[in-house]
Amino acid sequence: MPALHNRISQKELKERLYQETESRTTISFYRYFSISDPGQFRDELYTALAERKVFGRIYVAREGINAQISVPASRLDDLRNYLQSIPGLEKLRLNIAVDDDGKSFWVLKIKVRDKIVADGIEDTAFDMARKGQYVNAEEFNRLTNDPATIVVDMRNHYEYEVGHFENALEVPSDTFREQLPMSAEMLEDKKGHNIIMYCTGGIRCEKASAYLLHKGFRNVYHLEGGIIHYANTVKEKGLPNKFKGKNFVFDDRMGERITGEVIARCHQCGRPADTHTNCRNEGCHTLFIQCEDCATRYEGCCSPACQETIHLPADEQAILRKGIDKGRQVFNKSRSRLPGRPAPLAGRPIDPLD
Ligand SMILES: [Zn+2]
Ligand SMILES: [Zn+2]
Repeated sequence: MPALHNRISQKELKERLYQETESRTTISFYRYFSISDPGQFRDELYTALAERKVFGRIYVAREGINAQISVPASRLDDLRNYLQSIPGLEKLRLNIAVDDDGKSFWVLKIKVRDKIVADGIEDTAFDMARKGQYVNAEEFNRLTNDPATIVVDMRNHYEYEVGHFENALEVPSDTFREQLPMSAEMLEDKKGHNIIMYCTGGIRCEKASAYLLHKGFRNVYHLEGGIIHYANTVKEKGLPNKFKGKNFVFDDRMGERITGEVIARCHQCGRPADTHTNCRNEGCHTLFIQCEDCATRYEGCCSPACQETIHLPADEQAILRKGIDKGRQVFNKSRSRLPGRPAPLAGRPIDPLD
């Protein structure tokens, strides 16, 4: 019986990764499908992927699977064949990360969770088997040529702020679980309209599409493969691109530019800017948009107070940090952008897939 968990230290695993000579390919995939025994599914998957030297993190739930993994390049085809042979994962599309060194993972972790995307839905009648129709880039463009079609962005406010589809509706919340009921409320009188939902890679909007159908909406679509796949497709096929600005991504780059337009503004001086940064004061670390001039002027800080703090001796800074919530703060303008909404609120930018 092969071990179903790793018993080697993190340090040693990381060293082993760096000693590998073969390059790794980083891939991601998800699928909503019914898994009757997630524990058993997990154990079988772990054995098969460990044999293929896969690293990464995978969540398995009764509603499906969500994975970010790396595999030695020579084993990619074998891995794809294996995954597609699993009942329910037929024709699974693997998203290959482009500019990635394959060194993001050095251990394989497969966890059983309640949901692959936390949704806060308590209604037991909700069923992921009944979801909206997929649209590809061409269909998205065609449907959105009709001004009556409603496009809904199911990402967080700081993702929307730097880039979104033309005329897309923002659902102003920090969390996906809040956005679900909020989106249904905002669209209450549009139940017969064509509604297209989208997110970064498709996993959130797919669930949102099922939620709206559950709430009695009739013509719900969602963008297959999300913004990432759309951007690649319009480029490849020379189609009109209706996404403006940057696609926010949860890694060090904090965004991939899709078009040259800068649609956001510096949170300090108000001039056009769309570079997200974290305040340099470790006790603050607020996520905000800062232009180059302000980055120089405030030394990467979000405020004069934080700028003062970073020049204090390290031990004094440590004292100031005590008792402060270590959660990452985020500058939220979306609520203030909408009329009748309360003042900006700070929250924690969390990878919604975490
Ligand atoms: Zn500025
Ligand atoms: Zn700060």
